[in-house]
Amino acid sequence: MKSIANKNILGIRPYVPGKPIEEVQRELGIDAVIKLASNENPYGPSANVLKAIAKAAKNVNRYPDGNCFYLRRALAKRLGVAEGELIFGNGSDEIILLALRAFAQAGDEVILAQPSFLMYEIAAKISGAKPNFVPLKNFCYDLTAMKAAVNSKTKMIFIGNPDNPAGTYVSQSQLEHFLKGLRKNILVFIDEAYFEFVHKPDYPDSIALLKTHKNIIVIRTFSKMYGLAGLRVGYGIAHQEIVDILNRIREPFNVNSLAQAAALACLRDKDYYRQIARKIEKERQFLYQSFKKMGVEFTETVTNFLLVEVGQNGTEVARKLLSRGVIVRDMSFWGLNNFIRVTIGTHQENQKFIHALRGIV
Ligand code: PMP
Repeated sequence: MKSIANKNILGIRPYVPGKPIEEVQRELGIDAVIKLASNENPYGPSANVLKAIAKAAKNVNRYPDGNCFYLRRALAKRLGVAEGELIFGNGSDEIILLALRAFAQAGDEVILAQPSFLMYEIAAKISGAKPNFVPLKNFCYDLTAMKAAVNSKTKMIFIGNPDNPAGTYVSQSQLEHFLKGLRKNILVFIDEAYFEFVHKPDYPDSIALLKTHKNIIVIRTFSKMYGLAGLRVGYGIAHQEIVDILNRIREPFNVNSLAQAAALACLRDKDYYRQIARKIEKERQFLYQSFKKMGVEFTETVTNFLLVEVGQNGTEVARKLLSRGVIVRDMSFWGLNNFIRVTIGTHQENQKFIHALRGIV
């Protein structure tokens, strides 16, 4: 059947998800397996959020609200944007897919950093557009090289801010400089999936930039800081004209009702998530200190995950960690052969990871 498949997709390497924790536990015959591989919030949703999910569960015989009415109203108010400037997705992944499907086609080019979040490349290829990769420089975006890569075919540029897997960010002045003089008919896609973890005074105010640049879309998610990865809800903020275009191809019921109720409850539970941000910050320092003591190189991160240079084959290290009950991400898929990526977990989880790593490197 390959001969009749959409030619655009045959060159895509399928995303390889990790095994469920339960399966790893069964295979290894151990109870205590921890997953530090998908940049999730290790503490889970708040009690109020769980209550909201239980309440919404009673009505799952009904279709969800296709317009995300209450979530839209609350979020627009929180962000200081118009309700029509928001689009919701089945995770922010869906907005990446929608944007490429709506704006790019065969013959177009999309500029991406390398390595960066894999969905950008996958979505570009699905649309038939050609990814134009620009290597990171010292694990940071090389915006000068990215601007120099623009040509008459360039349709979109992706900026993961902060990006995955590097965990580094682009500052307000770097972003402003980049946007200055850039063709106005190029869509600049700014992915802020990890925005809630960043505490840097020079981190961009992308919502303010949206007021002066009609060619920007910013995406964020409830999967990371808000701990709703399993429910799938993310959003995009952009000029109404962009939102209207994306809505033409959006499935009518793309965000399920439990996710909408949970996301709304998250917005009302600021203190709980502020505490989590503080805990992650503290644990980040714990990991830095532990790596320094071990003499292991790492890249400083503004997110809840970090890239660790293990000084030997990362696939092997990830396998050995797995046999000790710690699931991390092997980075060879990204071409980073001596690296693993680890999500910042609870203190107990981080201690277990460090203890296991010490036995290996
Ligand atoms: N952007 C980046 C940079 C990510 O790392 C992720 C999740 N791995 C996403 C977007 C998508 O997250 P979600 O679809 O759960 O909102």
